Amino acid sequence: MADHERPFWEGGARGELVVQRCRECGGLNHPPTMRCRHDGSAELEWTVLSGRGHVEGWTVNQHQWLPGVPAPYVVALVALAEDPSTRLLTNLVGIDPAEIRDGMEVQVTFVRPEPPDDGLDDDVWLPLFAPAAGP
Ligand SMILES: [Zn+2]
Repeated sequence: MADHERPFWEGGARGELVVQRCRECGGLNHPPTMRCRHDGSAELEWTVLSGRGHVEGWTVNQHQWLPGVPAPYVVALVALAEDPSTRLLTNLVGIDPAEIRDGMEVQVTFVRPEPPDDGLDDDVWLPLFAPAAGP
């Protein structure tokens, strides 16, 4: 894992969705990069978001790509509440794929995959989304 993306992957240990924000333009910056995708500024900081968003698109995957993530599972594009132009490619959990609706409100939840067997011991948490509980 590159250092400039570590806080995003480690925020889940505290139940926090942590995303880069630019000090120059105030825009959210995801996926993490060394420079702001809006204005090229290197003045990026980390901010804790609400973890809420809405579904912009999804697909049901019938093929198992990752150990511990059995098919079928839902791959979704989630627009973040603080800035819907910033989206996460993620999985939807806790819902029957037939019940998913465009624009439905979702809330982040984290899973920690089995650590890779490479001795690096990265503390990685995957941000997944589940239907939001009420307004
Ligand atoms: Zn910027």
